[in-house]
Amino acid sequence: MSSASIPSPTPPSRARRRWKAITRKVREVVSIGSALASTDHPYMAQIVPMRRCNLSCTYCNEYDDFSEPVPLDEMLRRIDHLGRLGTSVITISGGEPLLNPHLEAIIARIRKTGAIAGMITNGYLLMPEKIHRLNEAGLDHMQISIDNVMPDAVSKKSLKVLDKKLQMLAEHAEFHVNINSVVGGGIANPDDARVVSERALGLGFSSTIGIIHDGSGQLRPLGDAERVTWDKVRSMTRRSYSRFNHFQEAIANGKTNNWRCRAGGRYLYICENGLVHYCSQQRGFPGVPLADYTVDDIKREFLTEKGCAPSCTISCVHQVSFIDFWRAPQKDTVDPGSSHKAGAPELVQIQ
Ligand code: SF4
Ligand code: SF4
Repeated sequence: MSSASIPSPTPPSRARRRWKAITRKVREVVSIGSALASTDHPYMAQIVPMRRCNLSCTYCNEYDDFSEPVPLDEMLRRIDHLGRLGTSVITISGGEPLLNPHLEAIIARIRKTGAIAGMITNGYLLMPEKIHRLNEAGLDHMQISIDNVMPDAVSKKSLKVLDKKLQMLAEHAEFHVNINSVVGGGIANPDDARVVSERALGLGFSSTIGIIHDGSGQLRPLGDAERVTWDKVRSMTRRSYSRFNHFQEAIANGKTNNWRCRAGGRYLYICENGLVHYCSQQRGFPGVPLADYTVDDIKREFLTEKGCAPSCTISCVHQVSFIDFWRAPQKDTVDPGSSHKAGAPELVQIQ
């Protein structure tokens, strides 16, 4: 039978989707309660099972076009260790996770540890059968960033290309889907972000907006047209994420934030080589193998002040660190600013 003649799988019922959403929410509430009760475990880990990507967005410094997947047994060992550390949320990123032949096995293992399973993808390789396999593996969250309406030299992550995939997700996904739109970073038409967010909300997904910073990744105020789009999209999505309005506004205005980054403690970035880093933009700190990472490392990094924090634009780490904003002032100081790659633009995802 040719692939063209394979019938599309039956979409899940509304009742099944609703039940999945309720149980997911309960697990999230439990994970927050556990994080409030103890500071000795990571809340979120982002893990890279393969650096290769099928696209080549000009602003991105997180992909290559040649690497092989991390062997499955090694990935499972890493996930099991994150589980032993008590990690609440494990998110698969890349590169492009959908290129990885072991994706479903990785997701299933994340769920087996008791963690919430997420992934960040460009969505190009999604098909109904694949979405059903992700459902069955137990995926909880998917994020897709869409940069523009029409593909151009900067990015092919475009609504025109991906709209069909979004419709597939709306029909078949049992997991939560968030669509991230962006402004800045050479995106030609700032109003595209509004079009993307409206489409996402219309299909029943949540939507967020991010800023792509040019050059060194330093804070930079939005231009007038970008600001108009920013305000419009924020007014559409503000209700769900009001806690972070202050942080978002400071970034949009090019101002610094006063906060305690808990990277290395509450948030871990695990590269394809199995090393623990603070985040995607601070690779090399602490830079030790995950297999050797212990509760002592978590406790130390939790209390370590990061010199890059005031001008940091990494929203997911800010959100994770928000859990502990009211306690445990940091003392030791590390200034990893020199690890920024010269000229490496930074993708900033803001919820
Ligand atoms: S932004 Fe995403 S889709 Fe674009 S090159 Fe980087 S990893 Fe690939
Ligand atoms: S860049 Fe941001 S998230 Fe990364 S270590 Fe610095 S302050 Fe933390």
